[in-house]
Amino acid sequence: MTLGHGLILILAVTGLSLVVLPSLLILIERLRPVTKPPLGDVVFNFSYALLLHRFLGGFAAVAVAALAVEAVNKAGGGYFALPASGRGVAGAIVAYTVAMDFGEYVFHRAQHKSPLLWSMHSFHHSDSALNVSTTERHYWLEQTLKTVSVYPMVGLLFKANPAVIFAYSLISEAHYFFHMNLRVGFGRHSYLLNSPQYHRIHHSRKREHFDTNFAALLPIFDVIFGSYYVARADEYPATGVTDCDPPSSMFEAFIWPLRDALRPADAPLAPPHVLAPEACPIIDATERPPQRCAR
Ligand SMILES: [Zn+2]
Ligand SMILES: [Zn+2]
Repeated sequence: MTLGHGLILILAVTGLSLVVLPSLLILIERLRPVTKPPLGDVVFNFSYALLLHRFLGGFAAVAVAALAVEAVNKAGGGYFALPASGRGVAGAIVAYTVAMDFGEYVFHRAQHKSPLLWSMHSFHHSDSALNVSTTERHYWLEQTLKTVSVYPMVGLLFKANPAVIFAYSLISEAHYFFHMNLRVGFGRHSYLLNSPQYHRIHHSRKREHFDTNFAALLPIFDVIFGSYYVARADEYPATGVTDCDPPSSMFEAFIWPLRDALRPADAPLAPPHVLAPEACPIIDATERPPQRCAR
């Protein structure tokens, strides 16, 4: 593959994941929505994705990726060489996906346990109306942290062909589906695959849902490690972090973990996002108690 072909492929995948797929899913969200996300928040999330998450975050991750690859190679490369062609490729994709998903599960649990990691991850959870655009609302440095932790670990385990890694990146597009503002869940079969209802429980403001359903793709890791929650058929809770005022600007999103420290003492807070009761009828007295974004 030439450099030109590589660039075309990257542009095609970026266009697919930032424009085509989200646009289609936003239309589908209108069929069975849980709530009505503020349009300004959706626009903010996609603007943030272009400027910080994909652009700055992408550059930062690429900058450290070479170091991570070198470290993996110095350590002997992947222990198991996954098949690069023939019938074994399907098995390679499954093995690589399961390994990456386990790494994502561990990293996600750490994000809710470590105050430093939560100070970044709270940006994702601060969206008060979960929807397709929330998928892009991840603090821009998080990808870099995974590039020097989760990915090298999987790289040490498996030597994977670029086609296998590319297949996994396509499978990961399912995160748009999991963040949808849509009344869809898999009921008692929810241990098989993440879903909009399953992941909504993870973003819930209700105490009974705290620290549950961390899985990225495969809820079986929640089952194994005791964080599995099976939602009732009608259980679609309000989402967000109650006292976490949203970012008031792109700059505040950029400095998110430091914003309290850098904010002038007399600066007014942005108005908290309070959804109309009819939009989120499930909010009740067990809603998440006051909690700072940077706990
Ligand atoms: Zn989380
Ligand atoms: Zn999420």
